[in-house]
Amino acid sequence: MTNKSKKTTSTDPIQLMQGLNVEPSPINYELFYNFTQASNQALVKAMQPYTSGKKSWDNSVAETLHHKHIANDRIHKILDDTTKSVGDELKSVMKVLEQAGQDAASYGKVLEGAGGNLVDVSDPRSIRDIVEHLLQATADMQSRSNVLESKLAKTNQQVETLQGNLDRVKIEAMTDSLSGLCNRKRFDEVLKDEMEQSAKTKEPLALVFCDIDHFKRFNDTWGHQTGDQIIRFVSSTLKRHVSKHHVAARYGGEEFAIIMPATDLSVAIDVAQNIREKIERKKLVRKSTNEDLGKVTISMGVSLFRDTDEIEEFIERADMALYQSKQNGRNRLSVEAATEKAA
Ligand code: GH3
Ligand code: MG
Ligand code: MG
Repeated sequence: MTNKSKKTTSTDPIQLMQGLNVEPSPINYELFYNFTQASNQALVKAMQPYTSGKKSWDNSVAETLHHKHIANDRIHKILDDTTKSVGDELKSVMKVLEQAGQDAASYGKVLEGAGGNLVDVSDPRSIRDIVEHLLQATADMQSRSNVLESKLAKTNQQVETLQGNLDRVKIEAMTDSLSGLCNRKRFDEVLKDEMEQSAKTKEPLALVFCDIDHFKRFNDTWGHQTGDQIIRFVSSTLKRHVSKHHVAARYGGEEFAIIMPATDLSVAIDVAQNIREKIERKKLVRKSTNEDLGKVTISMGVSLFRDTDEIEEFIERADMALYQSKQNGRNRLSVEAATEKAA
């Protein structure tokens, strides 16, 4: 790295990160770069407690800030651009339609005029003139309506493209970029909806929390990139082995959750145990060097919705069960503590 003669820690993201002992990952770099550029005041304010050393930085801070101040900004920009493009396109269609209306009106006038002229015509030559005039006006009208037709077809295509962009943005807003699973925001929304649904229908609703065992060791031994590879592996196993109506999400760094609507406890346990075993059995090798990574295991906790539950209570019980699995030796699944019965 070059050594600049005049350096201030606050304008060089790398130096600032080094000074704070922040790992130079892409997401951290993007945040610190934006911080030093000071173009996003909300981000600057949110990062100040960390850059001043009052609070300590970690991956979950980075993810939260990135999601709130950078990823969301991008999505808003795409939405703004798309809304503007749709507006521009509609304006241009309105103009073409207006023009088409005027063309039809003037064609009508030509026909009317010809009709009037025909009433008192006796000279065959002037009939021929009128017919020629009409043919010309009809040809003009036809070519204008061909133009209109192709313009409308083009517009239709553009609107479809824009619709596709919007659909992509919607999916992006709900998806965690590293794992391809639902993100935390989507998890919160789905869980809330499913709790309401279950309270109404009385169908069981199960929630599974998972956390990779000793994940820090993997990062420390093999580096962050390989850590990310493991997160992707666990995510894809979750995605492949949950039922179609289950929703798997990345809850945070190396923590995952599965929302299981219309699923009772015994089925939830079977699905979760199957995932845990699939992960445990897989022989993983480091992509870049083919080295054996050893066994990856996960711990799990399950809770079942009670219709008096607030969202936090339901999550807390799955989280406590997960904690129990960690306490009892990891690579296992625990079920929430049974409801205490009144004496
Ligand atoms: P335990 O078995 O008790 O869960 O131990 P652990 O090491 O998995 O738990 P701990 O919470 O101590 O460490 C989790 C680590 O996960 C710390 C953090 O650096 C890392 N981490 C969080 N998010 C990411 C990520 O997106 N990528 C990578 N590579 N590491 C991450
Ligand atoms: Mg954890
Ligand atoms: Mg862990």
